[in-house]
Amino acid sequence: MSLLAVRDLNKTFGAVVAARDVGFTLERGEMLALIGPNGAGKSTVFNMIGGQLRPDRGRILLDGHDITAASPQKRFRRGVGRTFQVAQTFLSMTVAENVQMALISCNREAQAGWVPAREHHRPEALELLAMVGMADAADRPCSALAYGDVKRVELAIALAGKPKLLLMDEPTAGMAPQERAALMDLTASIAVSRAIGVLFTEHDMDVVFGHAGRVLVLLRGEIIAAGTPDEIRRDPQVRQAYLGDEHALEKPEAGRPA
Ligand code: ADP
Ligand code: MG
Repeated sequence: MSLLAVRDLNKTFGAVVAARDVGFTLERGEMLALIGPNGAGKSTVFNMIGGQLRPDRGRILLDGHDITAASPQKRFRRGVGRTFQVAQTFLSMTVAENVQMALISCNREAQAGWVPAREHHRPEALELLAMVGMADAADRPCSALAYGDVKRVELAIALAGKPKLLLMDEPTAGMAPQERAALMDLTASIAVSRAIGVLFTEHDMDVVFGHAGRVLVLLRGEIIAAGTPDEIRRDPQVRQAYLGDEHALEKPEAGRPA
């Protein structure tokens, strides 16, 4: 049974068809990219899976359980996680404290208790930070981190919820190219080691083709192609959809005209 099965999702906003009969599956440990031009419906599909939007029609199954109508909180408890930007208010806290906060809220504990707050889940937080390569920065304030390192902390925070499915909407936005590759390498290795299915949207085609196991291409609310990065890169319909940015789908090493 697939980790995630999406069947015939439909969503319209007035006259705009944001999703039409969208269907796909995602397996444990898989990195699946959802791409398409602006306005294609990527965020709409994402938000229907995350529970922020209700589909007009269609079904969403997680581990075989129908979560189509479940609240975001209920989905979260079932294992649907997503990365969020570290909120401004948390920048003054240390890296470890941010992850500890996430662990506390995931375990729905009262924060008052006989254990000093700063010790709550500290070993577990350090373990998660080690996984994203940030253990050495545990006691630094988040505000002192480089942008790429903040992204790693955001990943650790998302992992604190023990997701089975991780939704990442443009995870590398604002990052330098080498940082993007590093973050997605890390994400892919964690996806495999923890058997997490990752669904991500991404504008950077190098990231898409370099890190996705499979790619879905949305155009005007419809999936026009699904396949491996190589299949997608060669697909004439996909190339057509990206016209105007005709080199967007080429490998950098394939030699762009100088
Ligand atoms: P993408 O994330 O691929 O850029 P979106 O899912 O955000 O695309 O949008 C798909 C289409 O649906 C667009 O035409 C957009 O204007 C429209 N749309 C998205 N959300 C809403 C909304 N809440 N109300 C009205 N129209 C919306
Ligand atoms: Mg979007």
